[in-house]
Amino acid sequence: MIDVNCRICQTKAAIIEAADFGRHKGYKCPVCGPYFITSTAEAMVQGKPRGSMLSSWIRDHYESNLSPPEISSDILEDVLKNITNRSPLEKQLLLLRAIEKRTDYPGAKVSLNLTHDYPLAWASNPDELRYLVKSLEDRRFVAQDKTIGTSVLNVVILTDGWVYLDSHATKSAFKDRAFIAMSFDKSLDALWENGIKIAVERAGYKPHRVDKEPHLDRIDAKIIADIKDSAFMIADVTQQKQGVYFEAGYALGLKRPIIWCVREDDLDNVHFDTRQYNHVVWKTAEDLQEQLYNLICAVLGKRTHS
Ligand SMILES: [Zn+2]
Repeated sequence: MIDVNCRICQTKAAIIEAADFGRHKGYKCPVCGPYFITSTAEAMVQGKPRGSMLSSWIRDHYESNLSPPEISSDILEDVLKNITNRSPLEKQLLLLRAIEKRTDYPGAKVSLNLTHDYPLAWASNPDELRYLVKSLEDRRFVAQDKTIGTSVLNVVILTDGWVYLDSHATKSAFKDRAFIAMSFDKSLDALWENGIKIAVERAGYKPHRVDKEPHLDRIDAKIIADIKDSAFMIADVTQQKQGVYFEAGYALGLKRPIIWCVREDDLDNVHFDTRQYNHVVWKTAEDLQEQLYNLICAVLGKRTHS
C-alpha cells in the first residue's frame, strides 16, 4: 500500500482500488473517509478554499453507510456550489447528533479525535472542533474528560443534551436547504435547470436534489436524513413518480412546509390524496421559476444572506 496525501484535506491517505480501470482514483483518508475522484476533478480541487466542507460532504457518505462518492468535475461543481458554511448553532447540533450516533448507551463516553473527526461537525479544522465541543459543554449538553491528551476528547452526553436532541429530533439542521423532490427523467432537466434551481437560489436558499449526488437513486437513510435536515420541500409531481409522493409524505409528517407543483397537462393525474393541496400549475420552466420564486418569498421569506 502506497501512502499519498488526500486530494481534499492533504492528510496522509491510502490509495484504494477503483473498479472502473483508471477513470477514477480512489483514496481512503482518515479525515474525509473513502472516495473516488477523476483527474479533472482532482485538478479543480487544488487549493479550493471550501476544502473542509468537501471533506464533511464526503465523510457524510461514510457516516451514513453509503458507498464512497465518485467525484467527477460535474459533481464537484455542483457540490461546491451547493454547500454553504453552517452557523455555529447548526454545527453544534450536527456535532451533538454525531456524538449521539457514537454513544453505545446513555452515559457512555465517546472519543473524538480532533485531527480526524472535525468534518463530523462541519468544522474547518481541529481547533474549531475543540471550540464546538467547548460550546456544547458551556450549554451543559456534554461533559468532557479533562485528563485525556490533547488530540483526543472524551465526551459524554448529559441530560440537557438528551432533552435538546429530543426536542430537535425533527428540526432541520440546515435552515437554508430546500429539498427538491421531482422525477429524475431527462425530459424534465430544463424544469430543474431553468425553473426550480434558479427560483430557489434567487430566494436565497440552497436547492438540494439527490440525484445530483452519486449512488442516491433510491430512497435510503441518506434521503430520509436529507429531508429531515431541510427547511422546506418543493415537490413537483409531474410524471406521477411514487418516490416523489413518498418523500413529500415524509416531509408532511415532519411538518415541513411543502410547495406542490405540477405541469398543466398532468394536473388531472395528481394523486387523489394530495389533490386537496394547492399546486403551482406551470407551463414552462421559466413560468414555474417566476411563480415559485414569488411563493417561496411569500411563504418562507427571502434570505438575503446564507
Ligand atoms: Zn481527506
